Amino acid sequence: MDNNMNSSEFVTLAHGAGGRQTAELIDRVFKAHFSNPDFTGDDAAVLPVDAGKIAFTTDGFIVSPFEFPGGNIGKLSICGTVNDLACMGAKPLYLSCAFVIEEGFPLAKLEEIAAAMKKTADEAGVRIVAGDTKVAGKGQVDHVFITTTGVGQLTEGVRTSGAFARPGDAVIVTGDVGRHGCTILLARNEFEIDADVTSDCAPLWGTVKSMIDASRDIHVIRDATRGGVGTVLYEIADQSKVGIRLNSADVPVAPEVRGVCGMLGLEPLYLACEGRLVVFAPKSEAPAILEALRKGPYSASAAIIGEVVADHPGKVVMTTEIGAQSLLPQPGGELLPRIC
Ligand code: MG
Repeated sequence: MDNNMNSSEFVTLAHGAGGRQTAELIDRVFKAHFSNPDFTGDDAAVLPVDAGKIAFTTDGFIVSPFEFPGGNIGKLSICGTVNDLACMGAKPLYLSCAFVIEEGFPLAKLEEIAAAMKKTADEAGVRIVAGDTKVAGKGQVDHVFITTTGVGQLTEGVRTSGAFARPGDAVIVTGDVGRHGCTILLARNEFEIDADVTSDCAPLWGTVKSMIDASRDIHVIRDATRGGVGTVLYEIADQSKVGIRLNSADVPVAPEVRGVCGMLGLEPLYLACEGRLVVFAPKSEAPAILEALRKGPYSASAAIIGEVVADHPGKVVMTTEIGAQSLLPQPGGELLPRIC
């Protein structure tokens, strides 16, 4: 450790050694923020289970930079797992989180991350009930990595899957696309572009709840994270063995995101979102679903962007703004590393 570092203000290897300093770190950061009756000092949380089915998922978060306009890695780590549960129609109940922290990471930043996690978990109605902290030597990890695992209660009568899209379904997106990817791109300062773009990062259980309250006949819900909406459309076309027709003019894109994409030659459909869902439901259900979405805080600009067809299974055909038909290019390699 550098001699000019005050050891009380930075994470040290001793904080990860399991002794007194580890207990101090847990008290100061994690117990201070995550405190709830299920978050105990025991080896595992003991939780009641209702009858029915649970959804269970896990995700690692290594976003760089670890803070960005609209959020930080803590908020993102809760949203990612909450949203994966929500996509299955599951009410998020419990979360665990495991931190790998680089030696020398400022404690004040760790507290900001924990505070963002708590705030987001509260909004999603999920309890953080278990955690782990490891400290890696300087340079062995970049700032902080977080893995969250979540359990949710499936809603009776709701069964969604990427394999359930059917010809005649409307394809809905719950808001404007590409914000998170665009935000991270700009936050890295690799381009001389000054644009006011904020990540769409948000916990979406409330959004899903409003949809399933409006209609139980929803076939697919998927969060458009890495790879964006374009990648999700190809995944669903493949899993369900259907074709998708997309109307390019109907895809909501914020003017600032469109501007940045224009300058860099990027397709907003392939930029990551962290607060947007792609939803497939019978066209007859779409008006009720859209009406519910448009009342929500994260889905006011929800729109129907296309439809499912029996033709060209596995392919996404886009009608461009001038009326031409073209194949949406297949998702390529990783556009941006460490986006989430
Ligand atoms: Mg997902």
